[in-house]
Order: sequence, then structure tokens, then C-alpha cells
Amino acid sequence: MHTIDHIYINGQFITPHGTELFDLVNPTTGQLDGQVRLGDVEDTRRAIAAAKAAFPAFSRSTKAQRGAMLQRLHDAVLARADDAADALIEEYGGPRNSSVGRSRYTANMFLDVKKVMDDHEFVKTVNKSKVVLEPVGVVGIITPWNSSAWFIANKVATAIAAGCTVVVKPSELSARQNQVLLEAIHAAELPPGVVNVVNGRGDVVGAELSVHPDINKISFTGSTPVGKQIARLGVDTMKRVTLELGGKSANVILDDADFVKAIPNAVAACYMNNGQACIAGSRLLVPAHRLEEVKQLARMAAEAIVVGDPHDAAVALGPIVTQKQFERVQHYIAVGIEEGAELVTGGLGKPDGLEAGYFVKPTVFAGVTPSMTIAKDEIFGPVLSIMTYETEEEAIAIANDTPYGLQAYVSSTDLARANRVADQLLAGRVHINGIHDDLIAPFGGFKQSGIGREFGPYGLEAYLEPKAILGEAAQYR
Ligand code: NAD
Repeated sequence: MHTIDHIYINGQFITPHGTELFDLVNPTTGQLDGQVRLGDVEDTRRAIAAAKAAFPAFSRSTKAQRGAMLQRLHDAVLARADDAADALIEEYGGPRNSSVGRSRYTANMFLDVKKVMDDHEFVKTVNKSKVVLEPVGVVGIITPWNSSAWFIANKVATAIAAGCTVVVKPSELSARQNQVLLEAIHAAELPPGVVNVVNGRGDVVGAELSVHPDINKISFTGSTPVGKQIARLGVDTMKRVTLELGGKSANVILDDADFVKAIPNAVAACYMNNGQACIAGSRLLVPAHRLEEVKQLARMAAEAIVVGDPHDAAVALGPIVTQKQFERVQHYIAVGIEEGAELVTGGLGKPDGLEAGYFVKPTVFAGVTPSMTIAKDEIFGPVLSIMTYETEEEAIAIANDTPYGLQAYVSSTDLARANRVADQLLAGRVHINGIHDDLIAPFGGFKQSGIGREFGPYGLEAYLEPKAILGEAAQYR
């Protein structure tokens, strides 16, 4: 049993004023695995006061000082990578290989951000004026349960690079991963009050951060409905917001693609992170005359995936995070069948021998039309919808026919054609021929997938306010 009974304010682990206990359940076994004591509004206000008090001195720190902090954070987070991976496996059901990789990757994020900061010009000349990029102030960071520590690390690193202080409200469902990260942050010996963490409910701690006048910016990753709510709550105090929200990303397979590679890649792009990824390519768009071949390749790829206990290195698909999310995914599979989609593989119920945990059968639907619920809603599980098109123009129109615009994928052997299609897709990132990684290129959503960008110079500027100094000031550097 894991008990997390403290929050982190002003460089110290303290007992929260809030007394509510939240159960942590291992999704592989369905068994109670721990409890977290939740902070309340009073705890949140104390954390905000600590961050506000730390801001003036921290905002004047030099690049070299902040760079040294980011280096220490990297070292401390890397030293705990094995513990972070264990937490990810047990608390989230993340498959071993990807959990180990992700934990190291989380540590490296601090060095990526350090490099971006080192290369960034914080004072520039624009026309005849000096422009100084100043830290935006105290930032409220609100994060979801999928890839929790990774999102927190990125946001904290970027805030520190900018000279901001923060109050983090992680998802209560990822308390163990967050705890490992927090202990590493503490070990990095930042000035007290620069990073504060309050576990708690979204509608209590998250809502207080969203309305409090001493919070200058909210950086949120989570669902679109909650993102809208946070933006509404923040408007009275004119908070800056970065919102990384949901998605229903299209994967466009052009008729000249290498289908033998592209279709298994497409299944992987939908099932990554146990199907619980905002960037999941959950709509697979294929030429109508190649449908039978696609169904066969997708079935083979889905059925080859080893589902089971994420401790086992052979397992590629672990459980869904909670019973509630499991039921939600089952609901969508039932709706897909009811609305007339063709079940190619998978379906309702749990895979044989895995009845205790929240396991979903890797599921593929074909015959999905744009008006079906499973083509429109973010399911957040390993459920792929195959849709067909007749022409390239129609493929682009279907891909863009969604309120979301987080990512898109295109496969073609003709790179000019792939780029032409990519240019027309309304998404913050488009991957050509596979799933690619770039932690410096901007990441974020078009349309209702969000506001603003993370990663690299665009991500850093989201934590900075440009101040123009006019007159003869440009000389006085
Ligand atoms: P969620 O929106 O339910 O919760 C996210 C966070 O917001 C949690 O910490 C929650 O406690 C908090 N919250 C809830 N209500 C709140 C309120 N009224 N005020 C302030 N905070 C509140 O999301 P989730 O279920 O934890 O995560 C899954 C969702 O996140 C999916 O929609 C997924 O697409 C999205 N997501 C987006 C990205 C991205 O980068 N665009 C990345 C990962 C996840």
C-alpha cells in the first residue's frame, strides 16, 4: 500500500489542511493499492502565496543560474527513473518497455528545455525599440493522468527556464508517479517556493488556481470540456492560458503508400499508451478500393498485440486506467456495433484470462461513417475506426471534419504528395510515414484541441510577456 499524505509548499513536505482520502487502484489487478490525502482551497492558497513570494527574486535569476537548476533537475529525475517506471507500470498499467523509456525521456526533457533557454534571446531589438521578454509570473499547472509526470516535467522545466514560479495540481489518479517526480524535484534543491505541488480535486484545487488573482497563467493539459471551463474561470483575471486538449486525429493512407508498413503503424498510432493518448490516430482513412486489404492487415496487427500484465516485457497493451474509463470505452464499442459499424476484431468484454483488471480487447471497426459516434468522439482506448474515401480531396475533407485538430498522420511513397496533403490538414502536428518525435518543434492543437503551443521556443514564449521599451532605450543593454 502506498500512502501519500502530504503536499509540497515552499520547499517542504507538509500535511495538507484537506482531509479527504482518495483511493489508488492498480488497474492490472483491480485491487486497492494506496491512498492519497487531498489538499483543499486553503492548501491551494498557501501554495499560491509561496509561489508569489518566491517570484520577485526568481524572476531576476540569470540564465546560468536557471540552467544549473535544470541540469540538477535532469540528474535528480534520471536518478529516480527506475522508480518512476515502476510507478507508471503499477499505477497506470504502462507496459514495461515504454514505461522505462518514458521515464528516461522525462529526465531528458529538462536538458532539452535548458538548450532552448540557452539559445533564446530574452532581449531583442524590434524596429527602433528594445523588447524584453519577462516571465509571466506565477503559473498554475494542471495535468491529466495519462503521461502525468512527463507533462508536469515539461511544464515545470519551461516555467523555470522562463523565470516563473509554479503551483502544480496533478491528476489525483497519478499520485505515485507524481510523488517520485516531486521527490526528485525536492532533491534538486531549487529555491523554496519556486515549485509547489498540491494534490487535490480538479473542481477544488484546479478551480481555485483558475480563479485566483495571484495566478497569472494556467498551463493545462486535459480534456476539452475542462479546458473550456478553465478558460472561462480565468477570464475575469485575464489569465494567460495554454490549453492542450483532446483529439480525434486522422491517419490518411494514400493509395500509393506501403500498406504493409503503414497499416501496422496506424494500429500502433491508435493503441499507443494503452490507447489513452491525446495524439492517438483513432480515425484511419483509406482508399475505398483497398478496404479489404486494409481490414486484413489491421486485424493481423491488432491480433498480434500482446495484452496483459504490464510488468511482462512482451506485453504491448496494458489495462485502461480505471473502472470508469474501462466502462466508457466499452460503451463506445457497444455504440459502434449498435450504429452499424463492422467489428473487424476485438469487441465487448475482457480478453480471456484478464478478467481482474481493466483490460480492453484491441478493437478495430470498419465501415465507419463520419456521422457515427465512434468517428466523432474521443474514446481514449484501443479502438480504431477505419473509414474510406474515394479521392484525395475527400480524404482531406473527412480528416478536417472534426472540432479537434491536435495531430494528423499521412502515409505515401510520394513525399511531394504527402506534403501537399499535410499542408491541407488542420492539425498542430502532421506526421509523414510513421510516428515521429521532436521535443523542440511546437506541439499543440488547432481548433478545439487547444490554445497555444508547448516545446521549444514557442513553448518558452508562452511563459514570457514581451515588454517594449521605446525611445533611446535600445542602447542601454
Ligand atoms: P480531465 O480534463 O478530466 O482532467 C485534467 C486535469 O484537470 C486533472 O488534474 C483534473 O483534476 C483537472 N480538473 C478537472 N476539473 C477541473 C476544473 N473544474 N477546474 C480545474 N481543473 C479541473 O482529463 P483527464 O481525464 O485527466 O485526461 C484525459 C484527457 O486529457 C483527454 O481528453 C486527452 O485527450 C487530454 N490530453 C491532452 C493532451 C494534449 O497534449 N493535448 C495530452 C494528454 C491528455
